[in-house]
Amino acid sequence: MVNKNQNLRICSKQNVCYKKMIFKSPQYCIFVQNKSEMNTTEQVEKILADTSLSTELQNIAHKVLNKERITFDEGVYLYEHAELGYLGVLANFIREEKHGDTTYFNRNFHLEPTNLCVYDCKFCSYSRLIKQKEEGWALTMEQMLDIVKKYDDEPVTEVHIVGGVLPQYDVAFYSALFTAIREHRPDLHVKALTPVEYHYIFKKAKIDYATGMKLMKDAGLQSMPGGGAEIFHPEIREQIAKDKCTGEQWLAIHEEWHKLGMRSNATMLYGHIEKFWHRVDHMDKLRELQDRTGGFQTFIPLKFRNQHNQMSNVAESSVIEDLRNYAIARIYMDNFDHIKAYWAMISRETAQLSLNYGVDDIDGTLDDTTKIYSMAGAEEQTPAMSTRELVNLIKQVGRKAIERDTLYNVVTDFENVVFEEEKKPQYYKLPVVNQD
Ligand code: SF4
Repeated sequence: MVNKNQNLRICSKQNVCYKKMIFKSPQYCIFVQNKSEMNTTEQVEKILADTSLSTELQNIAHKVLNKERITFDEGVYLYEHAELGYLGVLANFIREEKHGDTTYFNRNFHLEPTNLCVYDCKFCSYSRLIKQKEEGWALTMEQMLDIVKKYDDEPVTEVHIVGGVLPQYDVAFYSALFTAIREHRPDLHVKALTPVEYHYIFKKAKIDYATGMKLMKDAGLQSMPGGGAEIFHPEIREQIAKDKCTGEQWLAIHEEWHKLGMRSNATMLYGHIEKFWHRVDHMDKLRELQDRTGGFQTFIPLKFRNQHNQMSNVAESSVIEDLRNYAIARIYMDNFDHIKAYWAMISRETAQLSLNYGVDDIDGTLDDTTKIYSMAGAEEQTPAMSTRELVNLIKQVGRKAIERDTLYNVVTDFENVVFEEEKKPQYYKLPVVNQD
């Protein structure tokens, strides 16, 4: 068994874990979540002292230690050859250099106007085509504002608006929605829609991206989530997400938004039919745009789930591959401040593990307001966590819980916050049988 105090490197067999145990017996070490007593630089130096590592892996470790960028080929090499223990050490080194133990979350809710969609992405478990209308929903402006008003007395800081694409939700509709939300509750940050919706509504309105994004900003839009990116390379995109905006168009819309001085996130849907180099190509295009604009805040790898969609014959990635992917993303995306894991998509336990593999943000409380993950077969079927639960989830694995707003300003540092005792469960006395 694992020694929980010394974890990540020492097991009961007293072997060096990053090499002997994680590599050979992941089941022993992958669930050990507390931190090592060795500092992160010493851990990387230990890797560098390992003469059995390939020259390529040695060179990459050197680069990470010296804060140098790795190349496209090195990114592919990591996917093809690097084992989880090695990647975890490098990714955690970068994570702790940038953020120490700080782990971010926010208090948010989702507003999903519709799950009807004019597109037919093969991986999508969420949308219902217009011909399957009876299985879908399409909210009116009033219904959406009623959802927002439900949170009037809640300390949420963000509404995340995302859903399907329908003709009636056009430039005028979304402008009016953003304005109405901001007027009703000016302190609620409006993070809304992706280039998939923007490309569609701007095309319909016959306006270019720059004009369209300016209109959205003026209407009250404050930031853009990272969705709709999938895999940029046309070889894959045309098979899984034909017809909606291309990779270039996705990037161009974010670029226009950044030019307005605004921030956004980026995602990558991985673990389906793409090859490793497609993932690196995707991250490379984001890294290149980030070099030019600096407008991205967070990179969010999204695990492909195979329930209730047209790709249910494609196997899902393993937890080990998920953690490798987070780690490589942290190493490759050197100009992104944050790597986020959606706890609702990968499970609470994997989200905890991911904090040792480069992740520093596990998203928000959600309050069971999104169907996107559950309809795709995620472990969390009614995703909601109280602030207390989220904070405890982070503290349990030795990290520091910080509630942030959408732009990563600190709202509350939970380091020394003690929650009121939860009501203890009541037990009833049972009659004693045969007491004579
Ligand atoms: S992924 Fe988005 S654009 Fe594609 S079908 Fe689903 S809701 Fe529509």
